[in-house]
Amino acid sequence: MTLPAGVEQRSFGSETGLATRGEPVYGEPTDGDWRKWDPHRSKLGALLELDVETELHGGETVLYLGAASGTTVSHVADFSGPTYAVEFAPRPMRDLLAVTDSRPNLFPLLKDARKPVEYAHIVEPVDVVIQDVATRGQARVALENSQFLDAGGLLIVAFKARSEDVTEPPESVFSRLCSELETEYDILTRERLEPYHQDHLGVIAKKR
Ligand code: SAM
Repeated sequence: MTLPAGVEQRSFGSETGLATRGEPVYGEPTDGDWRKWDPHRSKLGALLELDVETELHGGETVLYLGAASGTTVSHVADFSGPTYAVEFAPRPMRDLLAVTDSRPNLFPLLKDARKPVEYAHIVEPVDVVIQDVATRGQARVALENSQFLDAGGLLIVAFKARSEDVTEPPESVFSRLCSELETEYDILTRERLEPYHQDHLGVIAKKR
């Protein structure tokens, strides 16, 4: 697995782990400019920690859906180009705004990822869509936002089984979501995110 440029394995005292360079955001350990990326708090961090080939090289333009207060998207912005961060809840958005202070390439958007028409006039076509919305209809959100990708563009999505159906077995939920994705995307890799996130599936896909 190749780590994106700007993501490194480093030591923080007795701990080692992946890290990016930027202002700390969530109380993570630091060493000089470097800050540890906690895979327990980040689905993308878990994918990288699990050695999954994400196809990220570093320097890409990114549309990040479900930014919350910026834990993961802050790391993404540390190694990417222009990074648009969509979040529809006002409270985490307030924290996210503080994260942008030291990251001029991070653009927060208080928008609903199910209605991309609301930000289509702001967001340029991107190289990568990263999605972690943990809400019902997760595959539909990825399909609706495929308009920001050219053919061959990269989708990295984390699916949370319980957000779709608390009674259906997770593998059955994931099969359904992946089939829906495959109407527009070719799936390269699917990987469960245990032990970092229970009943979550990470999917790497390319737009056809
Ligand atoms: N990705 C974040 C991280 O790793 O730092 C955590 C995201 S949290 C699991 C899911 C977030 O998606 C919540 O903040 C929620 O408000 C947001 N969300 C859910 N549905 C959304 C939608 N339709 N549009 C925008 N944000 C949404």
